[in-house]
Amino acid sequence: MSGKDIAALIIGAAFFILALVVVIKIANFVKEVKQKAGRIVKALDAATEENARTPKPISGSDALMRKRILHDFPEFNAEQARQIVSGVLSQYFTILNNGGGTSVLRDRCTDAFADELEARIAHENTKYNDFRLHKTAISDYRRTGSDAVITYQAAVEYKLDGKLLSQHVYEINYIYYLSENDEGENISLICPNCGGEISSVGQKVCEYCGAAIEASIERTWKVNKIVKTR
Ligand SMILES: [Zn+2]
Repeated sequence: MSGKDIAALIIGAAFFILALVVVIKIANFVKEVKQKAGRIVKALDAATEENARTPKPISGSDALMRKRILHDFPEFNAEQARQIVSGVLSQYFTILNNGGGTSVLRDRCTDAFADELEARIAHENTKYNDFRLHKTAISDYRRTGSDAVITYQAAVEYKLDGKLLSQHVYEINYIYYLSENDEGENISLICPNCGGEISSVGQKVCEYCGAAIEASIERTWKVNKIVKTR
């Protein structure tokens, strides 16, 4: 072996070692990137999962609205009303899932609402799987003359077919329902004793003749709207 050959061999070996080091470095770098990407994906998955399981926030004005309602309707039972509205909402989803059974709601909702729901289930068959109601609270209360509307917000979760679990907010309108007589007039706006006009919601005694109104008038709270807002 000549000195030239030995030099060439050493250079060749040096290149080989260098190439090996580069390959190992690249392999390590790729491994590290993969691990990092894996951690990011995991974190994202966890965040998505967390998001899918965390109820959506609802209105915080429940206490204030209750005060206003009680001012107009001293006998309004807020807890009972909340239970009724929550029950109607749960049954609403059961009805949508089963494609029938609106009759169980009829005493707690307006006829218009029940009819509309019946029409809807006739041509829609979305399944709201694993429905769960987290919370119901009053978000708004409005009164115009003899009409009154309480708006509830409800945080719910369900799983649509082929989709992930999802969180939503539904709004429910609970209205002070005025029953009508055969002629379609609002009998509740007229005193049955003297014919005087009843001007304010929740009025118990006629302001003209002093007759008790409540006994002869059928007024009650009923659900008349359920709508998804978020
Ligand atoms: Zn009267």
